[in-house]
Amino acid sequence: MDVLTDIEIIKSTMNDLEVGIGIFEVEDLNDIESIRYVFMNKVILYEMRKNPEEVIGKKIIEVAPEAYQHEAGLQVIETYRKIAAEGGSVNLGLVQYSNEIVGGTYECSVHHLKDHYVYVMLRNVTDLEQTKNELERKNIELERFAAIVSHDLKEPINSIYGLIELIRNEYKLGDEVDLLIRSISNTAVRMKSLVTNLLDFVSIGEGKTKSVINLNTLVENVKEDLASTIKETNATIDFERLPEINGYETELHLLFQNLISNSIKFTKPYTQPKISITAFRTNRWIFSIEDNGIGISEAEQDKIFNIFERLHSKSEYAGTGIGLAHCKKIVEMHGGELWVDSEVGKGSTFHFSISD
Ligand code: ADP
Repeated sequence: MDVLTDIEIIKSTMNDLEVGIGIFEVEDLNDIESIRYVFMNKVILYEMRKNPEEVIGKKIIEVAPEAYQHEAGLQVIETYRKIAAEGGSVNLGLVQYSNEIVGGTYECSVHHLKDHYVYVMLRNVTDLEQTKNELERKNIELERFAAIVSHDLKEPINSIYGLIELIRNEYKLGDEVDLLIRSISNTAVRMKSLVTNLLDFVSIGEGKTKSVINLNTLVENVKEDLASTIKETNATIDFERLPEINGYETELHLLFQNLISNSIKFTKPYTQPKISITAFRTNRWIFSIEDNGIGISEAEQDKIFNIFERLHSKSEYAGTGIGLAHCKKIVEMHGGELWVDSEVGKGSTFHFSISD
């Protein structure tokens, strides 16, 4: 029976991986032209459009001399030399690679294997990058569209509202007609508020700059803004030692205000709202806003972050369903994520991360 050698096992495993793996030898640690291909798995050979015989044992300068002719190529090759000489690992991030046959964007990292040897990991993210760029472009288009529409709708809604008020003030209306007219007027007010919210949503962060913000002061200010609601509901809001972060002030104010006012609003009947705000640091800041409110079922936890999505009728809880979509956008412009843990009847904790 044939016994598999360690080398055979390793080679076969590496060939089956979906990332590109290659091993290079740097013969002379002071000479970037002395770097040789020792092993390239199938993925890398495919990306290079080469057979093993054309590459293995040969020097990069022989196989891909064009790599030495531009800044980005030289930087990658110099990294191989440096890691082979000094050890460690480097994540090169996204690298543009092209020769006469292929070209694209690759995620690339270089790692020390042993003296004079490095291994490289490569993932082709060209399609992913293209899709990302396309998506960003579409998003900008969509926001521009929403901005134009909401801006242009403001005027006609204002005049509908003005005309209704004129009719109500100038003409003597029977009770029934007055009721109908009042209902039209309320609808116009609601439409106006939706359109204003939409306009605010698309203009979040436009032309703003970041500054250092003390979140203790910011939350104190939010509490002042919500003073009458806090008093009416007898809500308590606890927080201590929140950090200073680098961010967009108006937007962060809105973020805390939306989350805190939701925690007060979605409260159980005859229950005093109790809200606690905490922060801890890993490689970024994670904030949590916990309440003892009505909670959100697991099935609905994803939906609530969509614009204009609400789980309750207006008569139960007032609102337009844009607050959390706003919050999500604000957190994302700070390089973070927003999510919720919740149990129906027990309460919700909204968490968000901020990279500063
Ligand atoms: P709005 O508050 O105007 O309805 P949001 O976008 O702020 O809009 O919230 C969307 C929905 O998410 C709310 O209608 C509510 O159903 C749910 N929700 C948000 N915050 C909470 C909370 N703290 N507790 C329970 N449900 C919440």
